[in-house]
Amino acid sequence: MSGLPALELAPSVRIMGGADTALFEHNDKSRGFPAMTKIAFQSAADENSAANLDKTLLNPVTLSELDSIRGTGLAEELLTNFPGDMARVGGVKTGKDGEQKAEWEKLQRGDVVLFLRDDQVFLSGIVTYLVRSKELARELWGEDEKGQLAECIYFVDEVKDQFIPRQTINRLCGLDEGYDWQGFEVQLEEVAAPVVQGFELESDVYFPIVSEEEYKQVVQEIDRTVPLDAEGRARLRKEDGFLRDQLFRGKIIEECAICGRKFPTQFLIAAHIKDRWHCTTEERLDYENIAMPLCKMGCEELYRRNYVTVIDSRVAVTRARVDSNDLQALLVKVKGRVCPWFKGSRSYFEWHARMGKYF
Ligand SMILES: [Zn+2]
Repeated sequence: MSGLPALELAPSVRIMGGADTALFEHNDKSRGFPAMTKIAFQSAADENSAANLDKTLLNPVTLSELDSIRGTGLAEELLTNFPGDMARVGGVKTGKDGEQKAEWEKLQRGDVVLFLRDDQVFLSGIVTYLVRSKELARELWGEDEKGQLAECIYFVDEVKDQFIPRQTINRLCGLDEGYDWQGFEVQLEEVAAPVVQGFELESDVYFPIVSEEEYKQVVQEIDRTVPLDAEGRARLRKEDGFLRDQLFRGKIIEECAICGRKFPTQFLIAAHIKDRWHCTTEERLDYENIAMPLCKMGCEELYRRNYVTVIDSRVAVTRARVDSNDLQALLVKVKGRVCPWFKGSRSYFEWHARMGKYF
């Protein structure tokens, strides 16, 4: 899709062992907060679902080859989510009395799907997109022996190998160790939290979709005078998700505000120009001006640690000497660059520049 030379891929490395049941017990529970993410159990126990899994999850599908969605808005949106034209897809049948569909309806972007085979969670993925479509289901997997279609469809990204026994997940969720996973089942935030936290499953790229209305509400509800509890953390995640969407929605590639390099948006964060905890509520609500894209390849750290700031629309370096030549070289490279995000955000950058002046 681009003129870039293809990279040679490393041979796939599979690390056996891994997931130790002691992981969570040794975790410092006081450090983290319950996450704002649900998990879905997806069993691939029967032959039909195992075959479907092989077809579209272990092997990604090529989006531009899908006849059932060609030329639709869905195809367009999917290409934004999956710029490489390849996507991994799972499907759920509506089930008896629609009970499987009801589970699927609980999902939102950013939730985690755990795939079970031979009593082991062997794969996890982050939900990026949900769509109900018989046509797409028919094209992807066809009907099963009962004539049913897996029409409740989810797309996943950040797919990883896992090696977690079913019993471990059950125990962490407060279920019977022997609890049998059948079909598709969603565990809500509170129940899922120990698993999400213990195995670090939460995505920092895919957040729940939040409306402007909800954003305004959560920003006003965040109480900065008390340590964050589960609800506070959930609100923060919503705030971050909304800012990300404002900056990146519809974009595959964006430019870092400091170094100007262009990266896929997964490698960029939506950073508060003025530290969020110093902003007034009004400033936090100014979502068109309060955030900018910063790359994870260095600028996020440089800006957060006040090594760089922006003065009169140009990147300024706040330290005359640093102890590493490589770091020095990085700073020299960005110094004096025009920051296109300055306009409209001047007062926020001025706050940041003042913070950096004592270094
Ligand atoms: Zn950068």
